[in-house]
Amino acid sequence: MSKNTSHDNNVTGENGVGFFGIHGGQFVPDGIKERLDELTEAYLRYKDDPDFLQELHTLYTHFSGRPTPIFYCESLSKHLGGADIYLKREDLNHLGSHKLNNVLGQMLLAKRMGKTRMIAETGAGQHGVATAAAAALFGFECTVHMGEEDIRRQELNVLRMQIMGTKVVPATNGQRTLKEAVDEAFEAYVADKETFYILGSALGPYPYPEMVRNFQSIISTESRAQFLKMTDSLPDMVVACVGGGSNAIGSFYGYLDDKEVELIGIEPGGRGDQMGEHAASISHGKVGILHGFRSYVLQDEDGEAANVYSISAGLDYPGVGPEHAYLSDIGRAHYKTINDMEAIDAFFALSRYQGIIPALESSHALAHAMKVAPNMAGKKILVTLSGRGDKDVDQISSKIKQKIIRMPQY
Ligand SMILES: *Cc1c(COP(=O)(O)O)cnc(C)c1O
Repeated sequence: MSKNTSHDNNVTGENGVGFFGIHGGQFVPDGIKERLDELTEAYLRYKDDPDFLQELHTLYTHFSGRPTPIFYCESLSKHLGGADIYLKREDLNHLGSHKLNNVLGQMLLAKRMGKTRMIAETGAGQHGVATAAAAALFGFECTVHMGEEDIRRQELNVLRMQIMGTKVVPATNGQRTLKEAVDEAFEAYVADKETFYILGSALGPYPYPEMVRNFQSIISTESRAQFLKMTDSLPDMVVACVGGGSNAIGSFYGYLDDKEVELIGIEPGGRGDQMGEHAASISHGKVGILHGFRSYVLQDEDGEAANVYSISAGLDYPGVGPEHAYLSDIGRAHYKTINDMEAIDAFFALSRYQGIIPALESSHALAHAMKVAPNMAGKKILVTLSGRGDKDVDQISSKIKQKIIRMPQY
């Protein structure tokens, strides 16, 4: 699975196993360390195992609907008048996002380890829904921890999880969103040795960042071959949105050795640059430790994880996956922000020009492509459309009713 072994910084990183440069690691108490050691042993044993990979790819094909296509946005590109914009359609996965790529991998590993009780955290509910679906498929018990505030905002996803037999437990501390959900899910995991923690992004203590990246790298393994076949060339730029960073690292991984391909991660700029008004951890954060790993973290004056905000619930996390922090440090990938309003413009543009309603998370990546395309005539930009926007239609509609935004006239 990891063909680019030179990038497996778990072996070569300056601080040893599990590091990407200075980032990553395993900053956890002994009780959790034992559990992670058990997981690491299983992960290393199966990650290149042909039977394991065969079973995973069968699930990708027949349950999730992979490979997802690449789509050329002809009307939108013509309208912008510059670069050609292409989409990697991760929104067409079963359940509407890239999350299942990772969940199926982890759950198959859980099955090999003989675990039958799954625990997960979720923000917007996309990871929770993917986990609930896979748990139903495998016949596993499943509990998803979710902030009380997110439960209120994402009623539909809560119901979808419950319909598929998952128990949704509210996290009631702090901002009552994703960070608190992760805190409580970890506590529940530590309390019960028989559980398996299905982590939803390319972060957390080793081996999660590397493991999740490997499962998500199916995105770029496919897209690289598809793009070559379709255009006889590689994209000049690959763009993906960055919450924790799983769809982005999956989108970048296959191109790391293609130095001519520019890799751009887009962080949520929210409503402004002040702390609390965005969730742009690389752009505005400092190196720190959160949830068992070192990376760029948005911190308040006391060094605690800061409050975060983004219009898209899937992006508002105060940290970022350690491999992105590393790719930023060495300059292989670049990270920029897109604010709420720019994301909303892109949301409408793709809907009107191409008949595809994108997730607000993915709209951040698209917005960047739309911003740079006019100055990139003759170039090709590949945007990862990480999810579909049906889940965001209510939120957009209520902003229109409150006259915060207008339905655009094209
Ligand atoms: C969860 C989610 C994200 C953010 O998570 P990453 O780990 O950064 O990929 C982005 N887009 C969609 C559609 C999501 O569901």
